[in-house]
Amino acid sequence: MLYISTRGGMSSRTFTEALLEGLAPDGGLVVPAQYPQVDAETLQSWRGLGYAELATEVLRRFISDIPPSDLDRLTAATYSPDVFGSPDIAPLRALDERLYLLGLSNGPTLAFKDMAMQLLGQLFEYALERRGQSLNILGATSGDTGSSAEYAMLGKHNVRVFMLSPHTGLSPFQRAQMYSLDAPNIFNIAIRGVFDDCQDLVKAVAEDATFKARYRLGAVNSINWARIAAQVVYYFKAWLALDVAPDTLVSFAVPTGNFGNVCAGHVARQMGLPIHRLMVATNENDVLDEFFRTGIYRPRPSAEVHHTSSPSMDISKASNFERFVFDLLGRDAERLNDLWGRLRARGSIDLSRHLAIAGAGGFGLVSASSTHTDRLQVIRQVSRDWATQVDPHTADGIKVALELRQPGETVVCLETALPAKFEATIEEALGSAPPRPAGYEDLESRPQHCDLLDPDLASLKEYIAARAA
Ligand SMILES: *Cc1c(COP(=O)(O)O)cnc(C)c1O
Repeated sequence: MLYISTRGGMSSRTFTEALLEGLAPDGGLVVPAQYPQVDAETLQSWRGLGYAELATEVLRRFISDIPPSDLDRLTAATYSPDVFGSPDIAPLRALDERLYLLGLSNGPTLAFKDMAMQLLGQLFEYALERRGQSLNILGATSGDTGSSAEYAMLGKHNVRVFMLSPHTGLSPFQRAQMYSLDAPNIFNIAIRGVFDDCQDLVKAVAEDATFKARYRLGAVNSINWARIAAQVVYYFKAWLALDVAPDTLVSFAVPTGNFGNVCAGHVARQMGLPIHRLMVATNENDVLDEFFRTGIYRPRPSAEVHHTSSPSMDISKASNFERFVFDLLGRDAERLNDLWGRLRARGSIDLSRHLAIAGAGGFGLVSASSTHTDRLQVIRQVSRDWATQVDPHTADGIKVALELRQPGETVVCLETALPAKFEATIEEALGSAPPRPAGYEDLESRPQHCDLLDPDLASLKEYIAARAA
């Protein structure tokens, strides 16, 4: 399996090359040259597999440069009950007869990002060891990505993490989760500024090609193809766990920010998994809902981003969306380049001619959005009717599932975080704090470690240069 860029300006890469490189050098996103196909018979033969074995089966179709026996070892180390709390890894539970919740948030940081990031930690360590290289991961976080990356890279050989976060602005839980880590390869950098300052600093460092090459800087944001590939696995897992006849209409409801999670669902469907529809759920930041309703894609200026009670979905543009548009244009890199040029020049593009292909009759993507009031209402309803607590992001997905589902359609809602991460909203909805998983009771009282820096490029570069692997 070889990888190409959505913009056509990259020679073919292997999986490992794409893993270490992140973004394609032409600014495009890395995608497989074609989607591997899984026929009905193969799919049935996977029924008895545990999560790690299923991960090997799905991933080896994307990875030709890691021997299957090594991949087996990496997936077994990643998807273990020690890391994800149960042998099931991603338990599926029924809410009603045709509504299910897929538990993806039982990893160390209580959000679904661990499902991919934990594998990335193993893959990085393995690839760097084989190549005799080291890597310094530089990132900015407003919450979930940073802690997920740090827990995945914790103690990994040849990898260091430099994670920028706004000095104030993280929730106490999120701050404690990152800053309580005390490991020689993890550097928490609190910036005297807001999230945008952190992101601007990361961009400015990455744009200095000499510095980037000298200190071997890498990225773990969701544009990394390996994260999408790892997420494809749980769509297969959910479908197999449902154990329904192949002609049953099975859809997924996916809380969406950067379009990474739902992009993995699109890939699973392209591989032949019988998915009826993929329901894109947004919050008040409805760039993607607008697209799937009108065919107009209009990223917002950052000043127009709403700060909502599902903050991990507060985005102004969806970085993974380019992967989907590439498929929508028949995988024509030249047309994609033209279109993205127009997007830069005019601030929006009109793909309404392609809406029929994107939607229910084609790729199966449909959408809706939620408000704060909707989320509170869903959190209450789920607690009352099904004795389950869900976080506000998962509530976005359930709201959309209930709104869009049709008679005869089964919908799997992806749980993207545990309610313990978003205490304030749960208290507002239910009048009491959500339960904390074992081991997290004293999180905020643990000693915290971080270095405080001004939002200044020179100081940041000096900091990295003194500590890089
Ligand atoms: C990252 C995140 C999302 C959005 O996922 P994308 O892959 O960016 O669409 C939704 N919910 C939670 C809790 C997250 O951390």
